[in-house]
Amino acid sequence: MIWNTDYETLPRGDIAGLQGERLGRLVDVLYRRVPFYRKKMESLGVKPHDVQGIADVVKLPFTTKDEMRDVYPYGLLAVDLKEIVEIHTSSGTTGKPVVDAYTAGDIEVWAEVMARTLAAGGTTRHDIVQNAYGYGLFTGGLGVHYGARKIGATVIPISGGNTKRQLAILQDFKSTIVTCTPSYSLFLAEAAREEGIDLGKVGLKAGFFGAEPWSESMRAEIEEKLRALAIDIYGLTEIIGPGVATECERQDGLHICEDHFYPEIIDPETGRVLPDGEKGELVITTITKEGTPVLRYRTRDITYLDHSPCACGRTSVRMHRVLGRTDDMLIIRGVNVFPSQIEEVVLKFEGVEPHYQLVVERRDQLDELEVQVEMNERMFSDEIKNLERTERSIEADLYATLNIHTRVRLVEPKSLARSEGKAKRIIDKRTL
Ligand SMILES: [Zn+2]
Repeated sequence: MIWNTDYETLPRGDIAGLQGERLGRLVDVLYRRVPFYRKKMESLGVKPHDVQGIADVVKLPFTTKDEMRDVYPYGLLAVDLKEIVEIHTSSGTTGKPVVDAYTAGDIEVWAEVMARTLAAGGTTRHDIVQNAYGYGLFTGGLGVHYGARKIGATVIPISGGNTKRQLAILQDFKSTIVTCTPSYSLFLAEAAREEGIDLGKVGLKAGFFGAEPWSESMRAEIEEKLRALAIDIYGLTEIIGPGVATECERQDGLHICEDHFYPEIIDPETGRVLPDGEKGELVITTITKEGTPVLRYRTRDITYLDHSPCACGRTSVRMHRVLGRTDDMLIIRGVNVFPSQIEEVVLKFEGVEPHYQLVVERRDQLDELEVQVEMNERMFSDEIKNLERTERSIEADLYATLNIHTRVRLVEPKSLARSEGKAKRIIDKRTL
């Protein structure tokens, strides 16, 4: 279902015109009201009148996460503080958090793009949305909440964690939609099995999963375990929270809400803009944001764009599911490796569970990557020589995909740590 046909099916030429107009207005505001951006533009010798259309976006400066932290808390405000109605921040686990301050208009846009997201996976006003994203400063909870409210669905604001209660609510209230991280959805499925709950009978229609990169193999696992459509959604605090992009029911790339967020793909080394289909770092400009707009924000997410029309009828550009993050990228003996690439290969094997961990060590100056994967109970009771055979064939498939030698170790069921939020996949002992 298309929530907003006016904007989601706008002809390509009209989209570019609208983006150019909005970018021009934004640059003007930033130049006048945000010293941080005025300085950056001056250092590049760019004036607002140099931006005449969306193609001129390349003249503008990039923004990095570190820069956003440096001007904590209010350095990016483009309006008076009295216009701000809500504030969210990033987790700040690795330093000062990034602040996202919303005007009433920004919250309206957030509800709109989240309504588009939820509708793209089939959510209607008849649905019961069990929102297991965390409420609070994290953007996941309230983002989904506003979108579901706009559609007119029933929201259950259960927030993250408390798995027993999640399962009880799921059964008692007959939730039809669930929203959480992909890894938590598997944790829920596992807990349901242990409690003897048949998730197939609960009547879930769809789940909206984001906040961490995941693979097609992981999708197959989730859809089988939840017996529901698994939709990949994308967003980040620095831009608005969830609502930047979503898959439609075709599950073939994520439609970006281009009338609000202008995407580019760049070479992360040189900053050069790359054409459709080429992998690089996603960069986003918030062309309608009022509170804390950003120019060319470097997301550190690796993906590529596709402007070809989608069978669903939406005209917006699609981004491929996030392949990895520049900061999650492992460099093993000079080869770039993303956890999601390993996940894709490993989960195709019979008897393997979607719980894995990557351990990197350096021995005799050489990087060694060990892939620890849980096996299911049936495989666990199998003969050692069969387990070893499976380990060797996973290693061979990983070598064919990544071109590096890895060591695969099948570990006992439930021996790896579970996460109720974002999964931690990498233990890099080279940096410990
Ligand atoms: Zn589509």
